[in-house]
Amino acid sequence: MKIIMLGAPGAGKGTQAKKIAEKYSIPHISTGDIFRANIKNGTELGKKAKTYMDQGLLVPDELVVDLVVDRVNQEDCAGGYVLDGFPRTIPQAEALDKALAALDQKMDYAINVEVPDDNIVNRMSGRRACVDCGATYHMVYAPTEKEGICDKCGGGLILRDDDKPETVKKRLGVYHDQTQPLIDYYTGAGILREVDGTIDINDVFAEIVKILG
Ligand SMILES: [Zn+2]
Repeated sequence: MKIIMLGAPGAGKGTQAKKIAEKYSIPHISTGDIFRANIKNGTELGKKAKTYMDQGLLVPDELVVDLVVDRVNQEDCAGGYVLDGFPRTIPQAEALDKALAALDQKMDYAINVEVPDDNIVNRMSGRRACVDCGATYHMVYAPTEKEGICDKCGGGLILRDDDKPETVKKRLGVYHDQTQPLIDYYTGAGILREVDGTIDINDVFAEIVKILG
């Protein structure tokens, strides 16, 4: 079972990816984790990736694909895996398909966790972070005991710039520009499945289980 997760930042696709990995006992693979593991272990690919990251440059598609393909060829991926945050672009998607085809494999599902932008903007604007210890809360979903005061250290709470509506809207714009072509690509491949990400986390997961069987 080889799965790609698609969904806007804040749509909860990482949470669903984790739940899928747990239920089906397959690895949850995020590019961030792969980068960190390769750099930590000092692999050739990790060294290459680090030269870009140290300069504040994006790691080129080819190298990202090499890192992901190297990861999915490891033993624990024999029964499948769930990719979170990859592919992000059409060249990455095509390179992944090509690498898998060389191994006589293909992706089985691309699951798009669909949440309207307004909904994400609202969710994010309810987040609060402690200025002293960095603990995070949500005014609706994870409120503090005393309004505006950190449960852990008594510090004040703020809405971070990253969570402000104008920042979130900008990020969503970039996301849609990048991802719509991927949605079209996987629709064409016949493996795209949509789930409603606005409902309760466990209900979203139940929808996904229905799809995966
Ligand atoms: Zn605090």
